[in-house]
Amino acid sequence: MSFDSLDPATGDVVATFPAYDVAAVRTVMAAARPAAAWWGGLGFAERKDRLTQWKTAITRRIAELADLMHHENGKPAADATLEVVLAIEHIAWAARHAERVLGRRRVGAGMLMPNQACTVEYQPYGVVGVIGPWNYPVYTPMGALAYALAAGNAVVFKPSPYTPAVGRWLVERFAEVVPEQPVLSLVTGAADTGAALCRAGVDKLAFTGSTATAKKVMAACAETLTPVLLECGGKDALVVDDDADVVAAADAALWGAMGNAGQTCIGIERVYAVDAVYDEFVTVLTERARLVRPGSDYGPMTTAEQLDVVRRHIDDALARGGQAAVGGVDSVRAPYVDPVVLLDVPEDADAVSEETFGPTLTVTRVRDADEAVERVNASRYGLGAAVFGQARAVEIAHRIRSGMASVNSVIAFAAVPSLPFGGVGDSGFGRVHGADGLREFARPKSVTRQRFTLPIRLTTFRRRPAALKATVGLVRLVHGRRAEHGATQGQ
Ligand code: NAD
Repeated sequence: MSFDSLDPATGDVVATFPAYDVAAVRTVMAAARPAAAWWGGLGFAERKDRLTQWKTAITRRIAELADLMHHENGKPAADATLEVVLAIEHIAWAARHAERVLGRRRVGAGMLMPNQACTVEYQPYGVVGVIGPWNYPVYTPMGALAYALAAGNAVVFKPSPYTPAVGRWLVERFAEVVPEQPVLSLVTGAADTGAALCRAGVDKLAFTGSTATAKKVMAACAETLTPVLLECGGKDALVVDDDADVVAAADAALWGAMGNAGQTCIGIERVYAVDAVYDEFVTVLTERARLVRPGSDYGPMTTAEQLDVVRRHIDDALARGGQAAVGGVDSVRAPYVDPVVLLDVPEDADAVSEETFGPTLTVTRVRDADEAVERVNASRYGLGAAVFGQARAVEIAHRIRSGMASVNSVIAFAAVPSLPFGGVGDSGFGRVHGADGLREFARPKSVTRQRFTLPIRLTTFRRRPAALKATVGLVRLVHGRRAEHGATQGQ
C-alpha cells in the first residue's frame, strides 16, 4: 500500500510513499537494534562530530529544505527557513552539551557510606521511536531526534503522513554523514504505522501530536511498559497587564495567533486583557489583523479536517453570544482562513476551551491580572503562555500552570535551546530541549565502588550491636537536634 503527500495550496502530489505495515516496521526495527549498539559505542566526541556534520549538511541546503516544506506543508518559504534555523540551533546545542549533561560524574557518598566511590551516568535507551506531527515538520521532531541521537540512541522516525518527504529529507542528510549503520531510519504511514511502531519493541517512544492520539500511543506502549514522552496540544494564553506596552502586546498576540495559520502547538489562542488596557488592545489588534493576508503572511490550512474544526469553533462562539471583531464564519474559504478575532466568547465555548489550531483569537476582558491567571489556569491544557506587563509580569508568568512562559514576547522559549520544552495536563509530559531534553532520552545508571572496609560494618549478619548503636548515635547527632534545626530555619 502507498499514499501521496499533497501540496495543500494546489492539491498537487508532492511525493508517494509506502505505508509501512507491522512486518515492515519490525524489519526496520531489527536493523536499528545493532545500529543502536554501534552508535552508542561511538562515544560522545564522535557523535558530536557526526551531529555537527548533519547540522552543516542541513544548513548548506536550507533553501532546498524550505522549498520542500513550502510545498508539502503550505507554509511560506520564509517561515520554513526560520523553522529550519531553529532546528539547526537545537542540533548544535544537543551535540555540544550531551557529554557534560549525560557523561559519567562523581557524586558524594554521604555520611553512612564514606568508604564508597559513587558515579552517575546517563546511558542511552537503545532504539527510540519518534512520531511527529505536520505543523512544524522539521523543528518539532528535531526536539526528539537531535536529543535522542546525541544521547546515543538509534531512532526510528515516523513523520506525519502529511509531511513524509520532509522527514525523508532529514533522514537522507543524516545517512550521508553516518553511512555505516541505519542509526536514523524512516517509516512512513498514518495511524496504523504509528501504532505498529509503538508495539515494535522500541525502548522509548517520543510522540508529538494531538492529546487524543497521545492517549492511544500511551495505551499501546503500556502493553510493554515502554516509557513515553508526550508532547500534545495546547490552548496558550497571553495576559496583558495594566502596565504593558499595549501596542507590542497586540502585535505579538497577532503574530503568535495567526503565524503558521494558527497551526502552532504554542500558538496564542486566547488573550486576557485587564480592564484598563482592554479597549486600546482591541483597537490596535483589530486594526493590524485586518492587514494580515493568508497566502502571503501565512499559508493555507495543511489539512481539510482542520478547516472543519476552525469553522465549528467560530460558529459555536458566535452562536453563544461572541462578537466577531475581525472576520467571521466567511473567513473560512478553503484552503485558506482569514484572520478572525472574537470578543466576549463564554469561557466554556470551544473557541476558548478547545485547541482550535487556526488563525483565530479570542480576547476577553478581565478585572485584573489575578482574574487573568485564574482563567488561564482553568484550562485542561498547559503548554506555553505569554505575559505582557512590567511590575508583576514575571510573577504572573511563574503563577501560570504551563511548561513554559515568555514575558514581553511570544514563543521566545522555543528558540532558546537550553530551556526545556513540554507541557502539563492535557498538553502531555516529559521534556524535549535543554539538559532535561537530553536526560529524557537516557536512563540514569548509578555505580558505587567500595574503596575499603569500614570498622563499623552494618551490612552483614555478623553485625555487632555496638555498630548499630554507634550509627544511631551519629544520626542523632546530625539529624536529631531540633533546637539547632529551628535556629537554622530562623536565620
Ligand atoms: P495527530 O495526533 O493527528 O498525529 C500525530 C502523529 O501521530 C502522526 O504522525 C500520526 O500519523 C500519528 N498517529 C495517529 N494515530 C496514531 C496511533 N493510533 N498510534 C500511533 N501514532 C498515531 O496530530 P497532528 O494533527 O499531526 O498534529 C497536530 C497536533 O500536534 C496538535 O494538537 C498540536 O498542538 C500538536 N503539537 C504539539 C507540539 C508540542 O511540542 N507539544 C508540537 C507540535 C504539534
